[in-house]
Amino acid sequence: MPTVVTTLAGWRELTAQLRGEGASLGVTPTLGALHQGHRSLLARSASERDVALATIFVNPLQFDRPEDLAAYRIDLDDDLAVAADAGVTAVFCPSVAEMWPSWPGPTKTVVAVPSLASRFEGEQRPGHFDGVATVVTKLLCATGPAAAYFGEKDYQQLCIVRQLVADLALPNEVVACPTVREPDGLACSSRNARLSSAGRVAAAALPRALFSAHDELATSGDVTAALRTARDVVADEPSVSLAYAAAVRPDSLEPVASVSAGEPLRLLLAAVVEGVRLIDNVGVVAGPR
Ligand code: AMP
Repeated sequence: MPTVVTTLAGWRELTAQLRGEGASLGVTPTLGALHQGHRSLLARSASERDVALATIFVNPLQFDRPEDLAAYRIDLDDDLAVAADAGVTAVFCPSVAEMWPSWPGPTKTVVAVPSLASRFEGEQRPGHFDGVATVVTKLLCATGPAAAYFGEKDYQQLCIVRQLVADLALPNEVVACPTVREPDGLACSSRNARLSSAGRVAAAALPRALFSAHDELATSGDVTAALRTARDVVADEPSVSLAYAAAVRPDSLEPVASVSAGEPLRLLLAAVVEGVRLIDNVGVVAGPR
């Protein structure tokens, strides 16, 4: 089983010792409830670095809805078993009081990337990305990794982390890992477990919508038609309510209405099923018009 560390001082000491021994460290920040998506990040870190580390912290700063935070259940023993199996050496599991002594009051320092955080998930979940950016910065500073592993599943979050690492000149690489999906295409997420079996079947409309839009854009280069296709596929499932479907530039997340052939774009989609908010995205290169 991995070594479990619960204090910032202990984590700093362990990671400094490993670096002192010449080890290159990979870290994967998570909220726990580890599934195959997380496992792919952990295993990649273990295969690319001398030592793979994980953090498991249900960060209250990034939960805009108290009921979401209350619904977040993690079983540390299960998570440690997944981490061990993926080759993780040590896991940082701090308490809220260790990370945020002022909680439930606000933190005095906030890291924010407003140009990337204001749209999409940020617009619909006020404060969410400030919470993410602040905790990721603190975890990276406390760990001192050579590389940090993030999933493309949370594409807007990935862009924000890349930007803050560049702007704050943090010395680690950011490694983007592809989205792991269930056999019917639904992206693995701890939220999927909150769906009924009917809701779980209906949720497969998200990847169906995304991949239909992907194929349309890749062949016709028509952004408007591709997004209409995505909306139509979601509309066919009455229990799935669309939050947004957008085509954006892959780095700036600027929405685009039309593109030239060969331009890379990202298709973003969010929808609510049985009160559970689900997000997904896919990369696409626009075809000729
Ligand atoms: P979370 O615990 O939800 O904060 O996720 C921790 C990391 O795992 C983030 O970088 C996520 O993007 C990544 N992740 C979550 N689900 C998946 C998935 N289905 N495929 C790949 N990465 C994922």
